[in-house]
Amino acid sequence: MKVRILKGTNTIGGCITEISTDKTRIIVDFGLDLDYDEKSSILEIEGLTYGQPSYDAVFITHSHGDHIGLIDRILPDIDVYVEPVSKKIYTLLEKFTGGKVPRKTIDLKPNVTLPVGDICITPYVVDHSAYNSLMFLIEADDRRVLHTGDYRRNGYKGSIFESTLRQIGKVDLVITEGTTLSRDVTKKMNEVELSWTATDIFLKYRQIFILQASTNVDRITSFYKAAKRTNKNFIEDIFTCNIVSSLDNKHIPNPIDFSNVYVWIPVRYKKKDIRFKNRFILPFEKYKSRKAYEKKNYAMMVKTSMLEDIMKLHRKGLIDNACLVYSMWNGYKENEETKKFIEALKMLGIEAIDLHVSGHADIETIKALCEIVKPSKVIGIHTTNSEKLFSIVDNVIDVEENEEVEV
Ligand SMILES: [Zn+2]
Ligand SMILES: [Zn+2]
Repeated sequence: MKVRILKGTNTIGGCITEISTDKTRIIVDFGLDLDYDEKSSILEIEGLTYGQPSYDAVFITHSHGDHIGLIDRILPDIDVYVEPVSKKIYTLLEKFTGGKVPRKTIDLKPNVTLPVGDICITPYVVDHSAYNSLMFLIEADDRRVLHTGDYRRNGYKGSIFESTLRQIGKVDLVITEGTTLSRDVTKKMNEVELSWTATDIFLKYRQIFILQASTNVDRITSFYKAAKRTNKNFIEDIFTCNIVSSLDNKHIPNPIDFSNVYVWIPVRYKKKDIRFKNRFILPFEKYKSRKAYEKKNYAMMVKTSMLEDIMKLHRKGLIDNACLVYSMWNGYKENEETKKFIEALKMLGIEAIDLHVSGHADIETIKALCEIVKPSKVIGIHTTNSEKLFSIVDNVIDVEENEEVEV
């Protein structure tokens, strides 16, 4: 079996891995660069995005755009495998932001081995900031490769980290993400601790605005718990509401199953066409209520596009002791719209408080993974500092982009 990192030895996001035997060729993940915009050029790969198809399948680890965001560029005759809830989340994201309908994909079932040619792929659910993220065990030619995708163990699914890896057992090669090797991760909090820190903040303020990714379901749960402990109503914006309601999980805070969860339909959605409204807004209209905020004691999930909505609450005197909880990677603060949003809230007397833990494996977690699956070789991807991996675990190999590695 051979491995080639087509992209990802020196970048976070947009990583593409090729795994092949003499008979079969597959790709793991095909997503956008983190700093992608309309002007960015996209990596064209012969046999995958143009020419005669020469790949047998593409496997997607999770719903983050840097892993799934380019599936529409894959030649139509190539099978693309995605876990069904991840596909739903991605589809919603596309519908709300671009109005695109993503291409057809085939459902991937966790723990079920799938043969493609002479390669066998087994997906395992893994803890990450995207719901139902997967890692892949890839087996062929008597060799075993573990592709981790993005992972961590400080979230609510962290408890399965060790048992899953023990189930996988020894592998020949680990391809691990290394996001935190180049990011300063000083806060060593887990999701439970974050929720209690949020509780302290929620006790100090009456109105809480939360800026976080709607796809980070662990984080929604953490903030919901803090709201419940402090007797606050929890208000989800319509996009978040659609995401959590699509998960087929009654335990994730959503307005249908939780009596203290309400919906907020941002002003800008008034302009959406009737088909969009019927499908994504109308089913949640009944969970919109003045009760949610009239006592001025609420925690509300917001987007940077919701400034007009916050101004409206302010004008109506429904904001008198508020803070903004910023719960994303600090680097996103460089985004112009985010900067403007934070500044505008500051003008209203709403100060931003940072509260976040990474969705990525820290050094101890990468070490722990390697201690359990005992790889003979390790390759770091999804990082801008893969050299650091050498000082963390044994058997790391230095791989250039496009270099073929025999497993
Ligand atoms: Zn990623
Ligand atoms: Zn991710």
